[in-house]
Amino acid sequence: MPAFICVTCGTQFAPSAKEPAYCPICTDARQFVPPAGQSWTTPDALARGHSNSFRQHEPGLIGIGTVPAFAIGQRALLLASDAGNVLWDCISLLDDATVAMVKGLGGLIGIAISHPHYYAAMADWAHAFDAPIHLHAGDRQWVMRPDPAIKFWDGDTLGLTRGVTLIRCGGHFAGGTVLHWAQGGGGRGALLSGDIVQIIPDRKFVSFMRSYPNLIPLSAPAVERVGAALEPFAFDVIHGAWFDRIVPADAKAVIRRSIARYVTAVRGDGTAELQ
Ligand SMILES: [Zn+2]
Ligand SMILES: [Zn+2]
Repeated sequence: MPAFICVTCGTQFAPSAKEPAYCPICTDARQFVPPAGQSWTTPDALARGHSNSFRQHEPGLIGIGTVPAFAIGQRALLLASDAGNVLWDCISLLDDATVAMVKGLGGLIGIAISHPHYYAAMADWAHAFDAPIHLHAGDRQWVMRPDPAIKFWDGDTLGLTRGVTLIRCGGHFAGGTVLHWAQGGGGRGALLSGDIVQIIPDRKFVSFMRSYPNLIPLSAPAVERVGAALEPFAFDVIHGAWFDRIVPADAKAVIRRSIARYVTAVRGDGTAELQ
C-alpha cells in the first residue's frame, strides 16, 4: 500500500489502500485546500517527475530541496556536527540519488523538525538512515504517519549533540522549534529557523505569523515568548525556511529589533495607519 502524500502541503500519511479522506494539515486555519480540491501523489509518482537539488550554504551545512518545487517548497538542511549529520526539517521526496549522497556523507544520527509543515516524508527518511526523529510533543496531534522512529521531547530545550540544541519557541505552532548551531555562521553561531522565525525580503528584519498563506498574525505575547526563548543563545546568522532566506550577519540585533517592531504594530491604536 502506498503512503500517500498531500500535494498541497507535502505531508505523507500512513500507508493505505485508498487516498486519505482529507488532509488535516491543509484544513487547519494555518494552511488551505486549493479551490480545485485536495489531490494526492505517492513517493514513486513524485520521484518520476521530480529530483532533489543540493546547495552548500556554509561549510558543514547543505540545503536539500526538490525541483521543480513541490508542495510548500520545503527545504531540508544537512548539518555536519562533530558526532555525525543531523537533518534539520524534512522534504517529501527521498529518491535513490539522495539516499546515496547522504549515505556517502556519513548518513544521519538524527532528524529534527521545526513544525508540522515540514514533517513531509519524515518516516521514509528515518527508515532509510535508521535515524530517530525528534519532534516537540506540543505538536503531537499533527503527526499523520505515526512511526516508532518518532521521539517526542517536552520542555524548552533539547541538546541533540555538542553545540546543537533544539529550542522550543512556539508561535506559528505550539511546538514550534528552531535549531541552534554553536559552530555555525563561521563560528559566530547560527539559527536554523524554519518559518518559526520567518526571514523576509528585507534581511534587516524577520517576522512571525500564525498563518503565512492566510495572513493571520500572532499575538504580541506569543512573539515576545519567541524572543525570550532565543535570548540566552549567541548567534549571528539565520538560515530560514527556503534556500534564499538567510540573514548573513547581526542576526541577534535583527531578532530584537524585529520583535520590538512587531509588538508595536499589533499593539497600536489605529492612528499609525492613518498617516
Ligand atoms: Zn495537506
Ligand atoms: Zn509553517
